[in-house]
Amino acid sequence: TAKKGALLITGGAGFIGSNFVMYMVDKYPDYHIVNLDKLTYAGSTANLQTIENRPNYHFIKGDVADEETVTRIFSDYDINGVIHLAAESHVDRSIADAKQFVETNLLGTTVLLQTAKKDWEEKGVLQKRRFHQVSTDEIYGSLGENGKFSEDTPYAPRNPYSASKAGANFLVSSFGHTYGMNVVISSCSNNYGPRQHREKLIPTIISKALALEPIPIYGDGKNIRDWIYVMDHVQALDMIFHKGKRLETYNVGGNNERTNMEIAKTVCMMLDELQPALLRNAGLDSFQDLITYTADRLGHDRRYAVDDSKIRSKLGWHPQTQFQQGIRQTVEWYLAQWGQSAVTETKTTSVKKGDRNALN
Ligand code: NAD
Repeated sequence: TAKKGALLITGGAGFIGSNFVMYMVDKYPDYHIVNLDKLTYAGSTANLQTIENRPNYHFIKGDVADEETVTRIFSDYDINGVIHLAAESHVDRSIADAKQFVETNLLGTTVLLQTAKKDWEEKGVLQKRRFHQVSTDEIYGSLGENGKFSEDTPYAPRNPYSASKAGANFLVSSFGHTYGMNVVISSCSNNYGPRQHREKLIPTIISKALALEPIPIYGDGKNIRDWIYVMDHVQALDMIFHKGKRLETYNVGGNNERTNMEIAKTVCMMLDELQPALLRNAGLDSFQDLITYTADRLGHDRRYAVDDSKIRSKLGWHPQTQFQQGIRQTVEWYLAQWGQSAVTETKTTSVKKGDRNALN
């Protein structure tokens, strides 16, 4: 019997991956989607509950760096494309210990590339089938006050996470140049939205606010990131995978630069509106009163901004979500997930005004 043709998506139980897998399973009922994820601390199948019984969805728990697992997937399915999102993704963890970042982001990408190359070469489809590497604008390093990263900006990663992602991109393009593989790379700015892990900035702000604990902001709070709603990135990935040109990179951005402090204030103002009772019981005027500066991240990149004119003009993509609307959807999602328990846990705690390092 012929093996099932399938698209392999890695890291599909994580933040962007789960949003992407759900979108693809819905949009392409004729595709079989195989989701390979190791389920590290960052991944959870709970993210995928709504699709777990779909006939075109297949979950495999496994490590992208494990050759045996990846080879088995290529022999069990006729993999007709790879979209590679699996990664260790948290900069702070990479600063504490870089080894796992090398194993997953560099070795894992290499194992996937080699296995795909071997299988597709044997089938005579090496130039047809696509390997899409999902990457980050952090590979380009840090910007001053002006300018933006374009696809031609030289890589200048400055922390172990971005170094491992830059290295992975080099491996991907080397497989395109050396063997003629049909590779494409996308480099996206900071995503926000539902299902992001608690350790990242926006979920941290929300969870600390709901717990009435200090909301930590690194350094002077003026580091700038270009924020994009996750579903806008997901649509870009779909377009790049299907329509992007071989060996090219596409930058994806929100055209939406914000300082970390602006992000914290915006989220807090949204919570003020959505959680007035918690605010009142705590005796606070605004959740912003909980914002506290903490020691800066080591080697903290100052500013990232993405020039996304190429994907706009070549593929007709543009982000569709207004920042205020995206933040509202995000905050509402986390409130639905954690809101009730957070309110119950903390309803007896009262914070006196002035107790905190308030900033405004
Ligand atoms: P995440 O940490 O939320 O999810 C990563 C997923 O990969 C998890 O489900 C985890 O279990 C899985 N994983 C980790 N190691 C694995 C391994 N060895 N084998 C198989 N699975 C493994 O990350 P995210 O924020 O969703 O990012 C996804 C991808 O997008 C990453 O490649 C990241 O570099 C890239 N990216 C993220 C952002 C962002 O703002 N979050 C921006 C641009 C690019």
